[in-house]
Amino acid sequence: DIDADHIPTPCGKVHDVWVCSNCGAVGRGVSPKKCPACGERKFNEKTWPCEVCLESAKVEAIKLIDILTKDFGFSSGELKVGFSGHRGYHVHVESEEVRALDSMARKEIVDYVLGIGLEAEFHGLGERGGKWSRVLAGPDLYDLGWRGRIARGTYDLLLTASPEELEKIGLKKRVVDTITQHKEALLESWEEKGPWGIIKGIGTESWRKIAQYGVEKQSVKIDTVVTTDIHRLIRLANTLHGKTGLKKIEVPITGIEHFDPLKSAVTFKEGTVTVLVSDAPKFRLGDETYGPYKEQEIELPTAAALMLLCKGAAKVVE
Ligand SMILES: [Zn+2]
Ligand SMILES: [Zn+2]
Repeated sequence: DIDADHIPTPCGKVHDVWVCSNCGAVGRGVSPKKCPACGERKFNEKTWPCEVCLESAKVEAIKLIDILTKDFGFSSGELKVGFSGHRGYHVHVESEEVRALDSMARKEIVDYVLGIGLEAEFHGLGERGGKWSRVLAGPDLYDLGWRGRIARGTYDLLLTASPEELEKIGLKKRVVDTITQHKEALLESWEEKGPWGIIKGIGTESWRKIAQYGVEKQSVKIDTVVTTDIHRLIRLANTLHGKTGLKKIEVPITGIEHFDPLKSAVTFKEGTVTVLVSDAPKFRLGDETYGPYKEQEIELPTAAALMLLCKGAAKVVE
């Protein structure tokens, strides 16, 4: 189970709202642990199936499919992928062997997928050679399993990270400067043995931190609770999701990159409904964009009106 709620996106702060179930205090973004006004721990959360959040959930689904097929050896025929109708994707493995797995076994698979307890030193990163000439070596982009993933995550980090991000993972300012200065050479090094140990001033410990962050980049942000729970009911395909009025639909694995949930999952395609919207962020359905709305009466296509009604953000005007 993959849900945008478990993936930090910048837009969550804009469109998600929490309401304290005790005192009614309201805030934006992910709900706090405790209500700042009364200390309550329960909140009513209003999240949105926004484009950016759904896209990041899809990226995670693609990463998961990659692990399940390449590392676990399932065929794509054994996998069924679905858009949940709200903010996520379900990836089902339909095979007799898997059905017998208990929660513990599933937890182990979850740990693998998340890259929990994974140390780059056990996946090819380390010093090689004799007593007098030790060289640092590391995994290659095309290695199988987590080795390749660590390498690709590292590549990704070197390609995209800002100096601030590099400092955040615990690298010293001096090391960050060296990386920034030699960025080109580091990226080109992947054509040969990779960047490990090729630049003076970036030591083994720094590379370990970088590779460890590569793990973080490649780990799949799945909902661990739902994934390991063997008693959970998962929505059937072609049924409506109560929080959106969109339907759960199957997603073809080939071409999943181009799948657009906000188009394909729209069910009600005719008519209009006039609603009084209290508060809603900008959102898209099909090719149309709606909102933002605040205390506004408006006639909308049925699917858009239904979305607002399901979210508790509007009322039907008689
Ligand atoms: Zn409160
Ligand atoms: Zn979003």
